[in-house]
Amino acid sequence: MIYLDHAATTPVDREILDAYASFLNQYFANSSSIHHAGQQSARFLAKAREQILTQFGLEGYELIFTSGATEAINLALKGYALANAKRGKHIITSSVEHPAVKNALLQLRDSFGFDVTFLPVDLSGCIRLEDLTQAFRKDTLLVAIMRVNNETGTTFPYEAIAEIVHQHPKAVFFSDTTQGIGKIPTDYRQLDMFVLSAHKLHGLKGSGALIKRKNIALLPLLSGGGQENDLRGGTSDFPVHVMLAKTLRLAENARPQAFQHATLLNQEARRRLTLFPDIVINSPLDGSPFILNFSLLKKKASVVVEALSLQGIMVSSVSACSSSKFKESDVVMALSGDSTRASNTIRLSFGKETTMEELNTFFDAFDGILRKIR
Ligand code: PLP
Repeated sequence: MIYLDHAATTPVDREILDAYASFLNQYFANSSSIHHAGQQSARFLAKAREQILTQFGLEGYELIFTSGATEAINLALKGYALANAKRGKHIITSSVEHPAVKNALLQLRDSFGFDVTFLPVDLSGCIRLEDLTQAFRKDTLLVAIMRVNNETGTTFPYEAIAEIVHQHPKAVFFSDTTQGIGKIPTDYRQLDMFVLSAHKLHGLKGSGALIKRKNIALLPLLSGGGQENDLRGGTSDFPVHVMLAKTLRLAENARPQAFQHATLLNQEARRRLTLFPDIVINSPLDGSPFILNFSLLKKKASVVVEALSLQGIMVSSVSACSSSKFKESDVVMALSGDSTRASNTIRLSFGKETTMEELNTFFDAFDGILRKIR
């Protein structure tokens, strides 16, 4: 198999898998139990939490372990909005957020009476800072703008966004950093709340976290026995959480090299794509090198993706969450306004183990398929 879908998920690192198996074999006691074994589990959990916060140089922040980015996003957005609704009911976001953000905000709008402003994006898929500045109201409570777009790799100017948001004392800045962490350099101290997901970083599925400033109040979505600082009830899957700290450590250590490697692959893929007629690249040049998105203007992307898959080459169309339906890409529609382009996107996403030979094999197969289909 040639796997070019790392933005959807990544293979688990052998080192993580081995460490997880051996950890799970030794430690199982409930980290909320007061006996010695339970307290040992609690210490592992506390250490993992501390390691992650220290790794990002975060003082005055707390970390809530979750089952992944989707849960962390829901806790951040709904938890914050519902806990602070008396202070304001207006939320600003971009029109290209991941469905986890978009749908959580739509639920706040449709079921809880919040008002959500969706900022448009330019051709590179990024919001305009003037639009953000102008969107603020007296009752703006929250700004949710992603760090890296999962379909196009567009990166957002988080420092400038943070500066604007922080001119409004009532508002906090949440950023969906799922595709940025372990990949793109970021000073996380600029963000008030952000999230991560282990399976995007060669870690375990069902593992993630929300990191937020300690003074930000949230309403818990899972009421229970007080776990995770009263913000997420339920017996802790602490072996999984401990592995998240290791996953992040490995990812951050490998980051500069992985970035350089992805840049080379991305440049070569762009060069090869320009040799094909009727293809337009949707990813901006200054985006994340790990993601390269393009549209076929005269062929059906769904047919090409399926034909590639039959040859053992895995690429994505739209995003993994909705690609089984091969619907139009909201993201490419938002940046281009072109329905043909939005309905025929292909996303290549690279990992540290992707090789240039694999990329060449992809292009040979791609060329053959394009010649064959009408
Ligand atoms: N946000 C972004 C930008 C993503 O790419 C993804 C994964 O596709 C998610 C959120 C959801 O992550 P998870 O699979 O950990 O719930």
